[in-house]
Amino acid sequence: MITIALSKGRIFEETTPLLAAAGIHALENPESSRKLILPTNRDDVRLIIVRATDVPTYVQYGAADLGIAGKDVLDEHGGEGLYQPLDLNIAKCKMMVAVREDFDYEASIRQGARLKVVTKYVKTAREHFADKGMHVDLIKLYGSMELGPLVGLADAIVDLVSTGGTLRANQLKAVEEIGAISSRLVVNQASLKLNRQQLQPIIDSFARAIQ
Ligand code: ATP
Ligand code: MG
Repeated sequence: MITIALSKGRIFEETTPLLAAAGIHALENPESSRKLILPTNRDDVRLIIVRATDVPTYVQYGAADLGIAGKDVLDEHGGEGLYQPLDLNIAKCKMMVAVREDFDYEASIRQGARLKVVTKYVKTAREHFADKGMHVDLIKLYGSMELGPLVGLADAIVDLVSTGGTLRANQLKAVEEIGAISSRLVVNQASLKLNRQQLQPIIDSFARAIQ
């Protein structure tokens, strides 16, 4: 049995056409079903529905053979035990630093101010500011980072931005791009060695579908 780990929402939606290209169709919709294990049209393939941040963990430990996860999530996880053969070019956005519209980020950097930064992406943020030689105090949040600078919890946020609509709606502005984000196919390395006959055709179908 091949197990593919996916998260609900945009990743599932954008993965559906790739699965179809590999001849795999979920028999239930994860948005309406409460099942966490979804059968597919193929007896030898099942989908498991997990939190986006948990996808690398399921694949790392071999509970799933394949998974689809954002580069944001993979960078935080570290990628241990994972083979990452394909950038699927889906769920594209950017990792950005943002501040209040009335905050002068450049000036505070010039003055050597020690900024407070809220983020769900602590590792990514730590590495980014260390590369810039900036000393920051990182505060871990699990969501709604945009609120931090509005209520005095932080000076800046590190978060994903696609259209910028959420930033604008909360009087924030992006001031720095940390990197481009898209979702990647991840494969358990041991499982690929053991089950290459079953896994390689799926990987190849994904590769053809994204071209
Ligand atoms: P939740 O929103 O339930 O807390 P989550 O934020 O981890 O969970 P999603 O919002 O579905 O889950 O994000 C899943 C992945 O999609 C992220 O890891 C990222 O790679 C990508 N993503 C997140 N936000 C955007 C966006 N605005 N545009 C495009 N891709 C995004
Ligand atoms: Mg989200």
